[in-house]
Amino acid sequence: MTSRYPFLAAVAKWRGSACRDSQSKPMTAMSHVSNAAIVLRRREYGDFDLILTVLTEDHGVRTLIAKSAKKSTKRFPGILEPFAGLQIVYRQGRANGMAVLEEATLERALGEVRSDVIKTAYASYWSELVALWLEDGQARPDIYRLLAFVLEALAEGKLSDAVLSLLFQMRFIGQEGLQPVLERCTCCQTAVEALGQQRFCVDLERGGVVCSSCPSPEDSRLHVTKGTLKQLLWLASGDLKQAMRVRFAAHVMQEATAFLEAFVPYHIGRIPKSLAFLRQIRGGVKA
Ligand SMILES: [Zn+2]
Repeated sequence: MTSRYPFLAAVAKWRGSACRDSQSKPMTAMSHVSNAAIVLRRREYGDFDLILTVLTEDHGVRTLIAKSAKKSTKRFPGILEPFAGLQIVYRQGRANGMAVLEEATLERALGEVRSDVIKTAYASYWSELVALWLEDGQARPDIYRLLAFVLEALAEGKLSDAVLSLLFQMRFIGQEGLQPVLERCTCCQTAVEALGQQRFCVDLERGGVVCSSCPSPEDSRLHVTKGTLKQLLWLASGDLKQAMRVRFAAHVMQEATAFLEAFVPYHIGRIPKSLAFLRQIRGGVKA
């Protein structure tokens, strides 16, 4: 698959393989960096400026100030929007100073996401997880490609938004080495397949499921059935295209969603503010 857009090329690259080669652009000057980026967050700063949190392809999460972006639309004509895929040039600030956005070219507007309240809620949740967890400047092209892939799929709308969210959360937490233990009891290590029971208690602290012979966790409200465990493992493994063929029954979707939206924030140690918004929106509109 080829694309004239680097943002989509990153998506194609992710779809095609787990290729990790860097497409790092050369420095345009000593302190200038050119790179593809996804806008994770945008906020106003004073009367004229915007502060953007972006995930760059090769230099991780960056916080940039776009000077006069609110006042003048000439330099950045309506393109500094959440979830947009951009090609940017920024200048490193001095010592503790914030990096300054010098140029931005739009590669993928993602307007389909921003014009839909449920898609916006999901994209905000994923973006906030990335911004909360990754350290500033830590190069994570794998997370960049994953986020670019799910945002593009969210815009295309070929797969349900809720399944995409499960896919994102399983892959994201897996790439961080925090994947849940779903194939065996986290206490006695017995394989789930070898156990007769169908329903398993989730122990967030132990990082996975516990069987009925082992002590239940203090908070034992979360449960998942065998079928849900299989579906989640399927989403987390192998080729993304194949993973996207998975179909979820309504009750499986409910269990998997409740599980991951508890597990992921617990293990990154922060509860994204956008999760409350997502739950509120999802409660009001059928996903
Ligand atoms: Zn056990």
